[in-house]
Amino acid sequence: MTRDPRYDVLFQPMKIGPVVAPNRFYQVPHCTGMGWLRPRTLAEMRAVKAEGGWGVVNTEYCSIHPSSDDTPHPCASLWNDSDIRAHRLMTDKVHAHGSLAGAELWYGGIRTTNLTTREVPIDLASFPNSVGHPFQTRAMDKSDIRMFRNWHRKAALRAREAEFDIVYVYATHGYMISNFLNPGLNTRGDEYGGSLENRVRFVRELIEETKEAVGDRCAVAVRFSADEEIGEDGNPIFGDRREMFELLSDLPDLWDINIADYSLEMGVSRYVKEAALEPYMNWVKSVTSKPVVTVGRFTSPDAMASQIKRGITDFVGAARPSIADPFLPRKIQKGEVDSIRECIGCNICYAGDSLAAPIRCTQNPTMGEEWRKGWHPEKIPPKHAEEKVLVVGAGPAGLEAARALGQRGYEVMLAEAGRELGGRITRESALPGMGEYARVRNYREQSMFEMANVQVFRESPLGVEDVMAVEADHVVIATGAKWNRTRFDWSCYRSVATEDSDAKLFTPDDIMDGNLPTEGPVLVYDEDGYYMGGVVAETLKKSGLEVVLVTPADTVSAWAEETSERWRIRTHLMKLGIGIELSHGLEWFDGSSAKLICEYSGSSREVPAASLVMVTQRTPNDGLYRDLLVAVDGNKDRLPFSLEKIGDCDAPAIIAAATYAGHRYARELGNPYDVEQMRHDRVDVGETSDAPTKAEPSKEYLDTLRNYYEEEVEGEAYFEAIGCRRASPDERRKMTRLAEIEIFTAEAVRPLIDKYGISTRSREELLLSGRDQADETPEQWQDLMNEMLATFPEYIDEFLKLEAMAPPEDLPRLKLLTEHEVAAIEFLERESTGRADSEAPLLTFLGRCS
Ligand code: ADP
Ligand code: SF4
Repeated sequence: MTRDPRYDVLFQPMKIGPVVAPNRFYQVPHCTGMGWLRPRTLAEMRAVKAEGGWGVVNTEYCSIHPSSDDTPHPCASLWNDSDIRAHRLMTDKVHAHGSLAGAELWYGGIRTTNLTTREVPIDLASFPNSVGHPFQTRAMDKSDIRMFRNWHRKAALRAREAEFDIVYVYATHGYMISNFLNPGLNTRGDEYGGSLENRVRFVRELIEETKEAVGDRCAVAVRFSADEEIGEDGNPIFGDRREMFELLSDLPDLWDINIADYSLEMGVSRYVKEAALEPYMNWVKSVTSKPVVTVGRFTSPDAMASQIKRGITDFVGAARPSIADPFLPRKIQKGEVDSIRECIGCNICYAGDSLAAPIRCTQNPTMGEEWRKGWHPEKIPPKHAEEKVLVVGAGPAGLEAARALGQRGYEVMLAEAGRELGGRITRESALPGMGEYARVRNYREQSMFEMANVQVFRESPLGVEDVMAVEADHVVIATGAKWNRTRFDWSCYRSVATEDSDAKLFTPDDIMDGNLPTEGPVLVYDEDGYYMGGVVAETLKKSGLEVVLVTPADTVSAWAEETSERWRIRTHLMKLGIGIELSHGLEWFDGSSAKLICEYSGSSREVPAASLVMVTQRTPNDGLYRDLLVAVDGNKDRLPFSLEKIGDCDAPAIIAAATYAGHRYARELGNPYDVEQMRHDRVDVGETSDAPTKAEPSKEYLDTLRNYYEEEVEGEAYFEAIGCRRASPDERRKMTRLAEIEIFTAEAVRPLIDKYGISTRSREELLLSGRDQADETPEQWQDLMNEMLATFPEYIDEFLKLEAMAPPEDLPRLKLLTEHEVAAIEFLERESTGRADSEAPLLTFLGRCS
């Protein structure tokens, strides 16, 4: 397919100061929960975005100095040379795909406490910490301002050295620089405060100094808020923002425009829809001749093209759409708009930074696993064998498993009890505000529609005999979970209803089935703590009932703090007139009242309650899985197929866990993942501690190292596959020995791969490739030995060449590479001449090494 000409505007290059963006797809800075902690993981993730066509790929917030550390949230940093090297992992990869790389220089001030470095945070005055820590900032005097400008300049120079093309002055989101602009906060009596000109002075100086420092090669971008205060959604309160902007309008090379209300800018789809920032942008482009970027959770190419054609923005800024689908630009380019995996606006990605964990995405299960597991959002290794897989249940887990198995080329049968696909997705997306969640189903249904090897059976509730009758090679159960009528009191699940009140007790499943209470007041008892309690309360309120949400937690929807929606949920419920009772557990419900117990004092009180909805825990629907096991007396190996369960049926969790479980099952079928082989992105103190600075190893050295590391991993599968085909136990054992020395050698070389941050093909790809090579080997044992003897000695020369290129500290590991080949050749020579002790060299090698 080819690109729709309506979208041509999205692919026009655009100059940004001294650099040129290849198109209008701009991944704005976004946090990842990786930051300075996981540079390789981060670099690979950003690389995939560039490969997917994002013309500009930025870092997350990148601290310029140790007095701005955001612990426990892992920001990036540009504090020293080590950081430069870490960022270069990213910039090299982004440049390799023809994209620009940007660094968002950041200083927290009022929003950071520096829990790691214990440096005192500075800001324009002595302010309380704005995210609730009992710390205050030190007021900056003139010398602090001079010192800060110097820090900023040095960080810009480091960004330049790390090969970034764009360097930011970050003057928004309530961080220190933005506070200088704020008329309410900035009442300084010196030339940096008070009047408009004075408040703008600090930002002006930073822009000018950054341009002077790096402007010959890097563009300077400014992140700036278009409005002054948080007002009603879509009704900006601009204050003197426009006048301020006019004073700076043509100074930077690019304007990255945000707004004051982060909960709107980063809004969840329940409350905020696509292009929500447009009303805030109406004057921006008319006041500057420089290019402008802004965001709007854009997933529709029509909306993107329209924003540019109507002059709202020059670049389509995106964080979440680029997370849900790193290949969004390429898909538009190739005319494959229907295959875009659209963001659902759930903000699970944001929870990564909130929880100091690597980023995850509900729609894109490969997000965050690009480096560690070698997962790619669009590519997946082909099937390991001509086999048939039965997937039971078409919720997010089953749908993703079926889609990815179909992509691998298996014959897939997806059986769903209901008429509609989607499981909980279809049910939940019908609740108030939840419509965009249906995209989880739509993307997968659409993808499978195009796969001839995937058959979907609706209205097919399968039992044990049905499953047996399919004669599949593999069966995966994804039958979900149902909401409990009980609550968990940390000793057991227990009922709160009396016999008479049972009929007046409901669960979210009842509400989603349309079985609503008819009498109020209704108590919605929320022990789940995420979005369901609020959504159920809203549904009932809209049906005309009086509703009170009760929770043992101290806040409404406590876990939604991590996704940045807690505040909006509570505001929304209050506006709807829903009562809120915090910090109370539920003791009993008798059909007309309920007894609540205070979590702190233990005091109790009775409240009127004609109906009760329990939003508590869920029970896996794993009956079919258990019945299949019962059919073979619990002995899984006696089943004529492999059997697994995934998603909520295995362990109820968030939707992102279900899509991940489905994807993982599909990836690992025939390629079991060995957790011992998991890559860990962390500092190897053994290799790096206090070592003197060494010369950079050559590209040839690194490439050769990668090739031979990959060959060792392939070798493991190669020898194992040959061994599996041998009838003689003796020959099988010998092949296993060869596989063992390959495994050992790969492990020996692996720290060098990690040390240099070398990207390799994923382990599963390598194992598949090794098995493929084994298919081409001779059948006769002697022929096999001869073939190996003819080729293996060449490796010795290659390994010696590698040693010659190596830095001295790498040699001990590389010598093992050479020695393992010597041992293998010695084995082959002995085996060819029929010696009984042929395995001895292999055992000696393994024995010496173990
Ligand atoms: P998950 O979140 O783990 O994907 P869901 O609850 O969303 O789980 O989806 C489970 C799906 O499995 C539902 O659509 C349900 O109708 C279906 N299902 C449950 N039991 C069976 C069965 N025995 N045969 C076929 N489909 C089933
Ligand atoms: Fe969008 Fe949710 Fe993925 Fe974030 S986690 S990118 S909000 S689908």
